[in-house]
Amino acid sequence: MRLEEERCWLEIDLEKLRRNAAIVEGLAGPGCTPIGVVKTNCYGLGAVEIARELAACGCRILSTADMAEALALRRAGIREPILLLGPAAPESVEAAIRENIILPVVDLEHALLLERAAAPCGRLRTHIKVDVGMNRLGIPVNGREEEAREDIRRVTALPHLTNEGLMTHISGMQDPALDHLNVEQLERFSAFGDFLAEIGICLPMHCESSMLFLSHPEYHQQFARLTSAYLGIEKGYEPLGARCVARLCTRVLQIKQVKKGDCIGYWMTYAAPRDMTVAVLGVGYGDGLVRGLTRGAHMLIRGRRVEVVGKLSMSFSVADITDVPDVRLGDEVTVFGEADGGGVSIREYAELYGGHPCEVIAMLKEHIPRVYLHPRPGAASKLPAGLG
Ligand SMILES: *Cc1c(COP(=O)(O)O)cnc(C)c1O
Repeated sequence: MRLEEERCWLEIDLEKLRRNAAIVEGLAGPGCTPIGVVKTNCYGLGAVEIARELAACGCRILSTADMAEALALRRAGIREPILLLGPAAPESVEAAIRENIILPVVDLEHALLLERAAAPCGRLRTHIKVDVGMNRLGIPVNGREEEAREDIRRVTALPHLTNEGLMTHISGMQDPALDHLNVEQLERFSAFGDFLAEIGICLPMHCESSMLFLSHPEYHQQFARLTSAYLGIEKGYEPLGARCVARLCTRVLQIKQVKKGDCIGYWMTYAAPRDMTVAVLGVGYGDGLVRGLTRGAHMLIRGRRVEVVGKLSMSFSVADITDVPDVRLGDEVTVFGEADGGGVSIREYAELYGGHPCEVIAMLKEHIPRVYLHPRPGAASKLPAGLG
């Protein structure tokens, strides 16, 4: 890959990932094992590359959404145990046992299917998933604690399932004013753990994802499932030194003058309020940006924030560079991500259109080249010549 020829590319800084991983380890403390969640190609940043780096940083267990993602990590030579987040079909049990993949059990019926499939092959590693309020996956607990406990008692009696953990997922209210709703679910989960212990079922527990891991250390349990904290896109821990690992870049393809009153872009929705110098940039909504998002959107060129003007095109966009006269053809532009010197953060970009930082990076299309900066010495480098 010759980067000089790319319209846009996504940089992923592995040194920042290593730093974030060290911060996560410190916050987890000795009693809590972080699980590196790399689902959906690690939010688009590259599951194999991120998982490999996390494993090298000492992350002892990984997680993906489904079997296909887990098997892709195995094909890449990654050997850590992998916990699936979603229920696998009984047809996957043999491969799960062979490949050291841990399956969640989402209800008693599912457990019986897994048990039947596991019996001829050996013992299947499992965690039991319960639902304490999100009403997504897992054995519902609310208002039926006795029945849920009886279901779990029957699951733990099955001889071919290991049942090594009890997990749930919390709705994750972002608004600090609604944090009591997070606490309610955290409390319900830990109370249910106590309720199970009354009949001698004591399982390692986990419910925290990054937001709760950072905001509620008092609820740390034996495991925590983390992505955003590793990637440095979760709110509130920059003061600890965490940094966003990703940066979306494009370049200046053409520079031109536009007269006051002339319209820029599709549908003539933007008229230049003054004579302007504009730069045409090589990124658009076909790359995964939000088409309607121009009002208030900025990018960083030569250390200065410039405004995006006119509707985005599929592969191109236009920025007002009138106040940055030293911009040159081919200049690198930071669309968003951590840019030393005041670039637009992924969270800031998300907030502009009411989106979520995870969504912003997960929307970036596969055709955008991923460039991994600062691989550890000895690791296979994916760095194109001339960068790094
Ligand atoms: C994606 C996911 C996580 C990690 O979420 P972050 O907020 O990015 O840390 C944890 N648990 C489950 C069930 C998930 O789906």
